[in-house]
Amino acid sequence: MAWKGIIQEYRSYLPISDKTPVVTLNEGNTPLIHAPRLSELAHADVFLKFEGLNPTGSFKDRGMTLALSKAKEDGAKIVICASTGNTSAAAAAYAAKAGLRCVVLIPEGKIALGKLSQALIHHAKVIAIKGNFDVALTIIRELSSLESVAVVNSINPFRIEGQKTGAFEVCDQLGGKAPDYHVIPVGNAGNITAYWKGYKEYHQKGNISSRPVMLGFQAKGAAPIVLGKIVQKPETIATAIRIGNPAGWKTALAARDESGGKIDAVTDKEILKAYKWLAENEGIFAEPASASGVAGILKLARHKFFTKKQAGAKRSTVVCILTGHGLKDPDQAIKSSKKIHQVPANKEAVMKAMRG
Ligand SMILES: *Cc1c(COP(=O)(O)O)cnc(C)c1O
Repeated sequence: MAWKGIIQEYRSYLPISDKTPVVTLNEGNTPLIHAPRLSELAHADVFLKFEGLNPTGSFKDRGMTLALSKAKEDGAKIVICASTGNTSAAAAAYAAKAGLRCVVLIPEGKIALGKLSQALIHHAKVIAIKGNFDVALTIIRELSSLESVAVVNSINPFRIEGQKTGAFEVCDQLGGKAPDYHVIPVGNAGNITAYWKGYKEYHQKGNISSRPVMLGFQAKGAAPIVLGKIVQKPETIATAIRIGNPAGWKTALAARDESGGKIDAVTDKEILKAYKWLAENEGIFAEPASASGVAGILKLARHKFFTKKQAGAKRSTVVCILTGHGLKDPDQAIKSSKKIHQVPANKEAVMKAMRG
């Protein structure tokens, strides 16, 4: 049977009725890819859920299919959001599909090129402010009471409802089991909230017999949850998690504490190293923010976090969410890589360069 998108596939778990117009681009059903080299380093069975393979290239599509379907059902004419990039790309695409107008508020100069091109080509009105994401979200909250307007940031509970289906898929793909550990980047903290909700619901329904330990990772320069206080000027190359005052702060702490997990920080250097390592060793091109989870696994692995004490004990299963596609941010990829070799147009010169 062909996949029909997360609303049709997980209908009974979602707040929709027969009256809800389903706005979908057949999101979800992303692959859970075994990562042999990462597994070796971590002393665990590591699987990467490549959410970059969603229709607009990030997990934001899972929430957006539900947010736009409900906005349309409720008679909204315009959807608005603040965005570090991927939310605006998803909102613009799903608004186009729904036939609604879309307005996105972005921090000037801090959006990856791929993401900006998506919002523009889907004909959203793109407004750049001289301020960061947190300021943009504050303005969006102030506009939320306007007539016929729906806010589609993750403060919209339907976003979380849609995103929780990622947890369902992970368990279904593992053959009806939850992983032992769930690793995830944390920015505005909507996704960690959503995954934990999804695991809890699947557990309550009896589809899985255990729940994972949740391990979230922020960038060191944008780590309010780790520090326990708002970061006024968040800074990181991982622009998708460059957030100093996450909307999902409390629910992220609940996910951490209820699961016995942790939320830690990784440096930009560690993120960039993991970003390249993943592309070179596992063949997966994810954006820098996504690599923060991989950087987190490598950091924990250095402290033998996943290593079993007893000899012969079964390895732990670790699922790491790769939240967005590397093509979103081509500038970063080129900056992080080897130079192109320029040679004269003849066989000898090419052979010399090949060997070098
Ligand atoms: C939005 C986003 C994040 C952060 O998710 P939150 O729900 O804000 O914590 C991480 N990576 C990518 C690629 C994103 O687009």
